[in-house]
Amino acid sequence: MPLIKCADCKREISDRAPTCPHCGAPARSAPAQRPAPQTIEQTAKPYKVALIIGVLVLALGIAILFGQGFDHGVPFVGVILAAAGILLTLGSKFMAWFEHG
Ligand SMILES: [Zn+2]
Repeated sequence: MPLIKCADCKREISDRAPTCPHCGAPARSAPAQRPAPQTIEQTAKPYKVALIIGVLVLALGIAILFGQGFDHGVPFVGVILAAAGILLTLGSKFMAWFEHG
């Protein structure tokens, strides 16, 4: 079994020993080998960004729609923005669902 050096007395001890048998210092062996705990957050991030952008674009489109009113016909910029926002919002949710089940 591999040996590591005690942090206190620098003597070699087993990497399975909970404490150094020479000086009694707690042996901190094996550097953490756990995978990063943020895997899900990182993979889901693009969808969250798309969702936020979608909501913002949708809000902007609605603001333009109600800001301009329908006196001079339907403001197409507002309609297009609102539609794009809905597509982004639904698309990001669908993609997140598709990826993570
Ligand atoms: Zn020691």
